Amino acid sequence: MPSSTSTRATATSATAATATASASTHAPVPLAVDYANTLSASRGRTSDHLDSWLAEHGMAPDPRFEPLRDAIRVLIGATAEQAPYPEAALAVVNAASAAAPHWLELTGEGVAVARAAGSASAAERLLAEIARSAIELLSEDQHANLCACQAPGCVQFFVRTHHRQEFCSAACGNRARAARHYQRRKEQ
Ligand SMILES: [Zn+2]
Repeated sequence: MPSSTSTRATATSATAATATASASTHAPVPLAVDYANTLSASRGRTSDHLDSWLAEHGMAPDPRFEPLRDAIRVLIGATAEQAPYPEAALAVVNAASAAAPHWLELTGEGVAVARAAGSASAAERLLAEIARSAIELLSEDQHANLCACQAPGCVQFFVRTHHRQEFCSAACGNRARAARHYQRRKEQ
């Protein structure tokens, strides 16, 4: 049975994810990219923000979220390198998407309301919503602007908002330029 009340919560959580998008970019960050970027690296140390990301979405830590994130990271990494999508990662994303069937419904006021099968738990709905965002991003006509940050040591992904954008943030751009400058000085 469709349940609109519980799904509205899911729709709201997607909006919240967009709102928490990194302040350095103006375009909204797709849910799947925001989620993939819960793994970050600074000065050679990797940090995992998945639990705090889940808390922002009203979720307790849940072991099911990590394999989905890893699979999405593998797929975004593959598309950034124009490599084929590995089967195992595809299977994880597709299974999460299928676990909580959901669809959009158009109201008379012209509002798209996300609805999901009522039997799914809140975690399953969020997993499915993230998977759907990833599938939309990774499907052929969308993935051209999906990039991996080129700054040394950075493990973040971003959707390019202008031609030739190489970095996930201004900070990474500055760091990479400083590193190149240093490298040139060393070679002289
Ligand atoms: Zn970066």
